Amino acid sequence: MSTTIFKDFQFEAAHRLPHVPEGHKCGRLHGHSFMVRLEITGEVDPHSGWIMDFADLKAIFKPVWEQLDHQYLNDIPGLENPTSEVLAAWIWDKVKPKVPQLSAVMVKETCNAGCIFRRK
Ligand SMILES: [Zn+2]
Repeated sequence: MSTTIFKDFQFEAAHRLPHVPEGHKCGRLHGHSFMVRLEITGEVDPHSGWIMDFADLKAIFKPVWEQLDHQYLNDIPGLENPTSEVLAAWIWDKVKPKVPQLSAVMVKETCNAGCIFRRK
């Protein structure tokens, strides 16, 4: 039996998508209030009653968050084409080595558009 917990983070950033067709609105410089959800899946420890401490997850994500918040994403190595899909995979690569139970990274650009990255 396994359980999934999640923690949401928010950051502000600017980007533009360099590979969209000419005239596409996403090719122009613009910003989003991005939301990132980290999903952690594992066994609930019978003593603590949790999978992991949310505070530990927050501390692990903090340096990643600092790289993203109030930045121009295109300037960050690996985010030269900063779609939600690329950003979710980039976050996965940063967090997964420190949190082996990471099971998904969700990135939302707006209230109703986003992406979920999982690696099997
Ligand atoms: Zn955008």
